[in-house]
Amino acid sequence: MKAINTVAELRQSLKGLRSQGKTVGYVPTMGALHQGHLSLVKQCLADNDICIVSIFVNPTQFNNKEDLVKYPRDLERDCDLLKQTDDSIIVFAPTVEEVYPEPDTRQFDFGQLDKVMEGKFRPGHFNGVAQVVSRFFDIIKPDKAYLGEKDYQQLVIIRQMVSQLKLPVQIVAMPIVREQSGLALSSRNERLTENQRTIAINISKVLFESCQWIDKYSVKETIEKVQSAINSFEGMEVEYFEIVNGKTLQPVTDWEQCDCIVGCIAVFCGDVRLIDNVLYKAKC
Ligand code: AMP
Repeated sequence: MKAINTVAELRQSLKGLRSQGKTVGYVPTMGALHQGHLSLVKQCLADNDICIVSIFVNPTQFNNKEDLVKYPRDLERDCDLLKQTDDSIIVFAPTVEEVYPEPDTRQFDFGQLDKVMEGKFRPGHFNGVAQVVSRFFDIIKPDKAYLGEKDYQQLVIIRQMVSQLKLPVQIVAMPIVREQSGLALSSRNERLTENQRTIAINISKVLFESCQWIDKYSVKETIEKVQSAINSFEGMEVEYFEIVNGKTLQPVTDWEQCDCIVGCIAVFCGDVRLIDNVLYKAKC
């Protein structure tokens, strides 16, 4: 496994590989890797000659400085995990100065896509995500990039960014990897106490249960039932739960409104903020 820290060295390596006609797949991450990340990496390895994994905790996407400071970091462990997965992986782990030699002042316009849900509660978050992902796409110029459906809104927005900037990269969406309990794997789970982890299992449990409610209840009723079911667990508080058109991310009011309907949730479990989502209608 090769670990690279500078843009110049990565560009140099890629030049050599490209000249041999090799295809390049890319997995952007913020580290603290788990099986969710590794599912993206494995698909990337299967589809491409080269797999590049970036590990970079991007400061421009954190609207909450405390969250940035508390974000788990363990590069050595991450590299070991990747090495065990496949020794041919290239890890790109640059410093903040390397990624942003000058402050990135670009402002993206995603219309209504980033005005809702995560975008509403984390102002500037998706602009920061777009800054870093577009910067990494520009450095790596991957043929394919692998993103998880766990961050559903992010996936839709990156697709929009690729289309707006006319980037020649194919976005591959990967399903959410969960613990056996149903809890969606997340780097933030590391910060949960044992008790909080037991309670957090109810997020996915309620979301899965709610898929059975759609024949009986309206969208509005389903939203209320999900929120009150999760809030009834001591130590958990729903920040938002929205049922949206999976393409436009705008709220739907009727189950018959479109063929791709997703329920997206953010929940505080103590001071740990967890997100998850469930597909109610899957023709996306
Ligand atoms: P992060 O390191 O949290 O920024 O995530 C990097 C990538 O891994 C993103 O595309 C996430 O959507 C994806 N990812 C994170 N957790 C999961 C999961 N449980 N299942 C599938 N993909 C995931």
